[in-house]
Amino acid sequence: IKILKPSEFHQVVELYGREIGDELLRQLAKRLEQDKSESNEYVARFTSSSLIMTTMSLHEDLHDYEMRIKETIRQPFIIGGKQIYITLKTGIASYSDDININDAIRFADNALSFAIDRPGTHTEIFTTEKNDVLVQKMTVLNHLSEAIKNKEITVHLQPKVDLRNGDIQSIEALARWISPKLGFVSPAVFIPVAESAGKVREIDVLILETVLSWLSERQRLGKKLVKIAVNISPDHFYYTHFVQDTLKLVRKYNIDPSYIILEVTENIGLVDFQSAYKIIQQLKSYGFKTSVDDFGTGFSSLSYLQQLPFAELKIDRSFINAIEDPATLAIVRSIIQLALNLGMISVAEGIETEEQVEILRALGCTVGQGYFYFKPMPIEQLDIILDQ
Ligand code: C2E
Ligand code: MG
Ligand code: MG
Repeated sequence: IKILKPSEFHQVVELYGREIGDELLRQLAKRLEQDKSESNEYVARFTSSSLIMTTMSLHEDLHDYEMRIKETIRQPFIIGGKQIYITLKTGIASYSDDININDAIRFADNALSFAIDRPGTHTEIFTTEKNDVLVQKMTVLNHLSEAIKNKEITVHLQPKVDLRNGDIQSIEALARWISPKLGFVSPAVFIPVAESAGKVREIDVLILETVLSWLSERQRLGKKLVKIAVNISPDHFYYTHFVQDTLKLVRKYNIDPSYIILEVTENIGLVDFQSAYKIIQQLKSYGFKTSVDDFGTGFSSLSYLQQLPFAELKIDRSFINAIEDPATLAIVRSIIQLALNLGMISVAEGIETEEQVEILRALGCTVGQGYFYFKPMPIEQLDIILDQ
């Protein structure tokens, strides 16, 4: 069983309408029928955005299939006078005496969801490990709503440090979840689950409120305030009331917006540049700072970055990790130069060694964050450090 989905299907429907999307699938099915590899192969519509294909052959080679698909989509589709180029995701699973057809379809669909996470034309074959990942995600999702309600999600704080003198320059808030049933669940696991379930905004707001209430308590006690960065998921960033709601929150706690940094991933503007530009501009006008997280791993272009008024550029940990490699070093040097030219602060993520600090300092990077300086820690622990 194969389930096939054009990566661009939703864009095509958004741009040209449902009929064009339908016609695209129809033409794709026709092409697949024309160059089918087996006589007993069948193609049909599966969901509104995907096709399903069955073959009886036992050992179809994955490489052969991928070559065949590349050929199938090499020429553009001509629909309503428009040329449409697509890439294709495929999920594959087999059925047998042990696995009935319904399970096989479910498994192929599961494999497809992994293919969708990869760029370009991509094929994934179902494995039980993939199923386990999905089961784990479902388990996490089942407990997540409770966790939010019961305040199981808390905040750890990790300072960003001025590389020249070691002073704490700002602090990043990171969500932590210790579930009574599941134990410690990493945000790398539950944030993507929350994102796909439409629950991440609740988490982001919870973190922001916790941090604001901490700042306002320090303010009340006459203690020194520090800038705090919170992570904002794209879903939340594009929420209609994001800017106003965030503004309301800081006012509720009587905190000046200049103490708040909003970290977003660099792909944010690729979804909808005009809206992203407007939101960042609005945030800036109210005094908030914005930061590009995990820079270098996404798909943004330099001209695009230049147009968005971010205050900070965070170089992804993977580059810092491999900074001793000359090619990586060259990239890091360019990013630091780029930040400088655009008037943004460069922040190196995931610094773990003295050598990395030395190199980054020599390159002119101004701020660093990582286990070498501080690990993420509970609020009370950071309070002690700040009050020293
Ligand atoms: P991020 O925002 O890029 O955060 C940095 C991650 O790197 C954190 O992982 C941090 O603990 C880890 N880290 C910091 N220094 C080092 C180091 O020296 N070495 C290594 N190996 N790791 C280091 P964490 O806390 O697991 O968070 C993972 C990701 O989850 C974050 O990446 C962020 O994208 C997301 N996240 C965390 N909290 C929130 C939240 O409240 N809202 C949203 N939307 N996303 C969040
Ligand atoms: Mg971050
Ligand atoms: Mg990061």
